Amino acid sequence: MRLMLLPGDGIGPEIGAGLRHVLSAANDRFGLGLTLETAEVGLAALTKAGTTLPETVLEAARGCEGIILGPLSTYEYPPASEGGINASAAFRKELDLYANIRPARTRPGVRAAASDMDLVVVRENTEGFYADRTMFAGSGEFMPTEDLALALRKVSRAGSARIARQACELAMRRAKRLTIVHKANVLKLTDGLFHKTASKVAEEYREIEVDEVLVDAAASLLVRQPSRFDVIVTTNMFGDILSNLTAELSGGLGLAASLNAGDQYAMAQASHGSAPDIAGRDVANPSSLILSAAMLFDWLGRRNGVPDLRSAADAIERAVDGQLAEPAGRTRDLGGDFGTQAFAQAVADRLRAGHA
Ligand code: NAD
Repeated sequence: MRLMLLPGDGIGPEIGAGLRHVLSAANDRFGLGLTLETAEVGLAALTKAGTTLPETVLEAARGCEGIILGPLSTYEYPPASEGGINASAAFRKELDLYANIRPARTRPGVRAAASDMDLVVVRENTEGFYADRTMFAGSGEFMPTEDLALALRKVSRAGSARIARQACELAMRRAKRLTIVHKANVLKLTDGLFHKTASKVAEEYREIEVDEVLVDAAASLLVRQPSRFDVIVTTNMFGDILSNLTAELSGGLGLAASLNAGDQYAMAQASHGSAPDIAGRDVANPSSLILSAAMLFDWLGRRNGVPDLRSAADAIERAVDGQLAEPAGRTRDLGGDFGTQAFAQAVADRLRAGHA
């Protein structure tokens, strides 16, 4: 199995190096036959190749069974015309990774603002307000005059249906509860179409209990009563924002894993950014990327019918939980003393020892 690891910017190379320890241990224990290819994207690639996303990297990634993308310092990139391409957006668009799956759960012993949370935000990943990936050609954001900026929000029936189906399939494997989050009271056409389409798809899943919550109410309820949610399905920007909230409530961005999935490809990616404020100091929490890679293993295991990959995914989750349960053995963001590499190595050791 060939995977492509693209470390990215800021803390990306550090958490990517940490992940390597864990992947190597999972490979040894479960005999996955894993080959890891790496390539540069981001600011390092810009210096060497004049672009943050060389075309060769995109092609090489297409030839792999899965991609692991580190965080990118996109805010520092020059305009696209000068080589500043957001690889995250480009992969999502080029590989049609329409489902952004972002779990958030409180973990044993880890202090969290939420008392009890175990949910997944399923975010539509190719439409909405994300101007750089929504149009066939051109951008969804433009300025007719220098004093007027406009953005178009795209919501299609097909796009809403396929993300709703992903959310329903996931709910069937979990507590069988689905919440459709929208703002159709104001955005009657766009969110109206999303809500109607998602509800219709959900009707096919008779075992799932479905409800709807307006996005502003959802933000309050996530704080007040997080345990009422199981799977949340929503449009692109609402999902982006709500999933940062759920990540923070459940323990912090350092634990925030995510998977970008389509019908052909999947890409593991931590939910957070490149954290330039702590880059290069061996203090970042690699759990986010490690847990994202576990999600990729699980996706590949289900898609290709490989039980060992799913077992490896479960074992990685347990190894991370086990290490997080040791107060001193956590990284600094969670009040521990361990550096990035020491934490990742400890997770790898737990995996190798079969303790997880
Ligand atoms: P950020 O997510 O990088 O950081 C927010 C805060 O969380 C910082 O205090 C950071 O130190 C902390 N943090 C993030 N990840 C952590 C980890 N693994 N361990 C410990 N602490 C962690 O957000 P930002 O500072 O607003 O953005 C920095 C850069 O990242 C910008 O250039 C932005 O455009 C980019 N960005 C990229 C992505 C992506 O690649 N998917 C997502 C969001 C932001």
